[in-house]
Amino acid sequence: SREWHLVARPVGWPKPEDFALREAAVPEVGEGQILVRNIHLSVDPYMRGRMDERESYIPPYQLDRPMDGGAVGEVLASRAEGYEVGDHVLHGLGWREYAVVDAARTAKVDPKVAPLSAYLGVLGMPGMTAYAGLLEVASFKEGDTVFVSGAAGAVGSLVGQIARLKGAARVIGSAGSDEKVRVLREEYGYDAAFNYKNGPVVDQLKEAAPDGIDVYFDNVGGEHLEAALSALNLHGRVTICGMIAQYNATEPVPGPRNMVNILAKRLRVQGMIVSDHDALRPRFVEEVGGWIRSGELKVRETVVEGIENTADAFLGLLRGENTGKMIVTL
Ligand code: NDP
Repeated sequence: SREWHLVARPVGWPKPEDFALREAAVPEVGEGQILVRNIHLSVDPYMRGRMDERESYIPPYQLDRPMDGGAVGEVLASRAEGYEVGDHVLHGLGWREYAVVDAARTAKVDPKVAPLSAYLGVLGMPGMTAYAGLLEVASFKEGDTVFVSGAAGAVGSLVGQIARLKGAARVIGSAGSDEKVRVLREEYGYDAAFNYKNGPVVDQLKEAAPDGIDVYFDNVGGEHLEAALSALNLHGRVTICGMIAQYNATEPVPGPRNMVNILAKRLRVQGMIVSDHDALRPRFVEEVGGWIRSGELKVRETVVEGIENTADAFLGLLRGENTGKMIVTL
């Protein structure tokens, strides 16, 4: 079985040489465990943080050890009650072809309810992040004008659509290519969208939101956060979900220069970690599942094929090569 190892800690942007695909023996299946053939692997921005040697809310990857991450696969052997050969599970031992996992640390998933890759995207961690981050953390309410950065990605594409379906007055998104901007407007129903590479965010946001914004869902940080602080209305709310613009920075990045807006406009700025919001999951599955079935929610994926292309898929994600969730299919 092949598995990916981190072989060097990236400095700045990760390089293909920081990763190696290695052959490894598949462990024995112990009591309470299952053997899974992985079908889809997830690559996610948070994995960049785990490549650095520093304490965070999840431990760093170890050098020359298998990497991990979200995956869905098929059960090939089971020594766990209630798990049969042929079942499908979501689990945390991605970045490899075969995994032996404690059944208790997996969730069964049903390919008849949704395509298996959806459990890594719209019905999985990114979907929950969008749902909880907008509705719980930002306390979204009908009539709000919402701005989302990273708006064509796995989380962002759902944030904007959920806001629209929940009665936002206006939904604005930013993304890194003109083609993504077209998808935002024409497919996801954003009222306005712009390519942040085409000019200063502050100017493009002002034009897209002449009456200001009430909610900013931040996937990016940096210039985007600064522009949003200028555009936010009195009592606006900000969900700090991600700061991908600085994940490859080698020096501490300067904060927004206009933090005084938080005071003057009585803004509420709150960070989030999706796993704190598990209580919301049943409502999430019901509501988002319903929108998928009715066709009101549009979902895209970018699929890279082959275990040997997993590191490239991760690097492509950092460069913005994905629209919607980046998936590796084995
Ligand atoms: P995406 O599918 O959005 O993929 C990442 C995207 O980031 C790329 O497609 C690229 O799109 C964009 N990007 C890369 N560099 C920059 C930059 N310098 N400035 C602006 N955009 C950039 O990933 P996810 O949806 O999985 O994650 C989105 C964000 O949410 C990340 O910051 C992630 O860390 C965070 N997150 C946080 C969670 C939490 O619990 N707090 C949980 C899940 C995700 P483009 O072409 O538009 O540049």
